[in-house]
Formats: sequence, structure tokens, C-alpha cells
Amino acid sequence: MAAFEDPAFDDHERVIFCRDVKTGLKAIIAIHSTALGPAAGGTRLWAYESDDAALHDVLRLSQAMSYKNAMAGLKFGGGKAVIIKTEDFEGTDALYEKYGEFVDQLDGVYVTAEDVGVSVEIMEIVARRTKYVSGLTAKAGHAGGDPSPKTAYGVFKGIESAVQFQLGRDTVEGLTVAVQGVGHVGYHLCRYLADAGAKLVVSDIDDACVRRVCDEFGATAVGVDQIVTHEANVLAPCALGATVSAQSIPQLKATIVAGGANNQLDSPEDGQRLADAGILYAPDYVINGGGIINVASEYFDDADDDEVMRRVAKIGPRLTGIFEEARKSGKATNVVADDMAREIIAAVE
Ligand code: NAD
Repeated sequence: MAAFEDPAFDDHERVIFCRDVKTGLKAIIAIHSTALGPAAGGTRLWAYESDDAALHDVLRLSQAMSYKNAMAGLKFGGGKAVIIKTEDFEGTDALYEKYGEFVDQLDGVYVTAEDVGVSVEIMEIVARRTKYVSGLTAKAGHAGGDPSPKTAYGVFKGIESAVQFQLGRDTVEGLTVAVQGVGHVGYHLCRYLADAGAKLVVSDIDDACVRRVCDEFGATAVGVDQIVTHEANVLAPCALGATVSAQSIPQLKATIVAGGANNQLDSPEDGQRLADAGILYAPDYVINGGGIINVASEYFDDADDDEVMRRVAKIGPRLTGIFEEARKSGKATNVVADDMAREIIAAVE
């Protein structure tokens, strides 16, 4: 494993390899930047093909968290952790407690929370050994709990801004939104959109998820191979990454791509390809920042639910600023967002 040579290495401040033979724990914590505050980002539990693949992932994800936290206006730097799901992995309390001890040894330099494969229940176990953890069960009057409804609300406000900018319309009423993936974020996004009078076209590999949004919000189901190129005003990727690629862009009918998924672009160049095709792209880590805003409000314990919603709603105007700068500079929106994030971080370094 050669961390410094990994293409995702971006002058990360620290990379910590955590091993405990007794519980079988193998984890990597990557601190990309603490310029803006404690490096915050979730813990991913995943079966990687190799330890090198795990290292690459945690380096990439922690850098993305620096940008996401900067653009969300948070006093958080960027970090991320992966727990490697080895073949004989057992998700025991002892393993998660040991992981909590490793996080604790960093003395607040890294703040963790849930990511793919990690639940609120697991974070509660981690929290037995460290206070540097967020995404725990919400207490009355305080922020906390499952961040996905807040993520969805931010995506909804982002779609409204994109619709205003691209189509000159004040609401999504009567517009068609194609939602790819109707799990946690996609479901709540459908709720907001349906309440605002949008028509929904949805797909998911899980039939139960599809049925739920069809029953509750009158959505129309289409196949997983049809959703991306379906007739719609907005395409909202809310499943896994790389929906937008050199192959899919020429086939898109929507003139707006705005959804909750991370890593929507197959490569950074796809941002320019979208712009060239006249499609407005809401950079993923800006529009899906509602969840981390919720996590930050919980960690700093400085907001109730209403205040969190107000903070998340600012994603709308933030995106409008990016769209305007992209129009002015002729740069793709994802490039504008990266430039802005780097500027925010550099200003305090
Ligand atoms: P989830 O697992 O609850 O939902 C994802 C859904 O996508 C699932 O229902 C799954 O069956 C479906 N899916 C997978 N592959 C698909 C495909 N090819 N076509 C259609 N559907 C497919 O996860 P989530 O928490 O809703 O997160 C969704 C996305 O948003 C992820 O990319 C995640 O990284 C990102 N995100 C989530 C949050 C959050 O607060 N949960 C915050 C920021 C970003």
C-alpha cells in the first residue's frame, strides 16, 4: 500500500491504519483537512477487493468531504473512515467499540457518523467509547437521527433553484421529475416533489421501494434501464454513482440533472459535456449537503429541527450562485464548485 503514490492522495494531513486482532477490526481513517475545523465524515463498512482499494476509497471520500463541508458553510474539515469487511468479518459490539477507541485516540481531530453499511445503532455502539461521533438517535428539541430526510429537503430546494435558473419557473408544479433510486433520500424527495405538484417517474432495483412511492405519491414506475433517458424535465439520481457519463449524456431528455447521489459524474469531464449539451448540473456534493448540515448541527448541538431546515434551505441560493458563476465564467458547474470549495479552505489555511 503506497498512500503517497495513490492517485487520490491530495496532501492529506494524516492517514491512520487501525488493526485489532482480537475483534478482527481492520479500518483506515483519512484526515484530508482540518483547516475549517475537525475533519468530519462518515464511516463506510464495505467488502473491498483489496486493502489498496479501501485506501483509495477513503482518500477519495475524505477529500470530497472537505469540499462538501466547505460548501455547506460548516466549521468542519474533511475526513472519512472505512471499516474493511473481511471474509471472516463479524460485526460484534466489541469490534465497533474498538473502532470507537481508535476514533477517540485522535482526540477530536476526526468526527465520525454513518455512511454506507453503517446504521444509527452501530454508531450508538461506537459512541460508547468516544464522544467524537454524530448521527445518533435524536433527542427531543435537538438535531440528530437519520439524516436522509434533511438530505432530501436540500435536494428539493436545489431542484427548485435549478428549475428557476434553467426554465424560469418559480415552482416544480406540473413538471416531470425522473427519480433514479427511491431508498432513503429518493423516498423523501418524492414526498417533497409530490407535495409541490410535480409528476414523478421512478425506478429502483427494489420493487418494494417502487411500490411505496407509487402508492403514496402516485408515481409512475419505469424500468431501471429506462429512467435515465426517460422523458422528464429533471433527472434526479438518488441511487449509486456514475449515472452521468459520456455514453448517457447524448441520450438524456431532461435539461436539469439534480439529485441526492454522491459521485453522479462518471468523470469530472462529464460536467463540461453536460454544459455543452445545454443541461444544467447541480454539483452533487453541494445539493446533497443537507445530511451533513444535520450531522454538524447535532455535533455542535446548536440548532433545533426548524433551524436545521433553515440551514438546509440555503442550499438553494448557494446553487444559484454556482449556476450564475458558471454562466459568467463559461466553466462547468462542477468546476466552479471545486474552485469555490478550494478558495474557502485556502482562505483559512
Ligand atoms: P439507500 O440505499 O437507502 O437508497 C438507494 C436506493 O437506490 C436503494 O433503494 C437501491 O435499491 C436503489 N438502487 C441501487 N441501484 C440502483 C439502480 N441501478 N437503479 C435504480 N435504483 C437503484 O441510500 P440513500 O441513503 O437513499 O442514499 C442514496 C444516495 O444518496 C447515495 O448515493 C448516497 O451516497 C447519497 N447520499 C445520501 C445521504 C443520506 O443522508 N442518506 C446524504 C448524502 C448523499
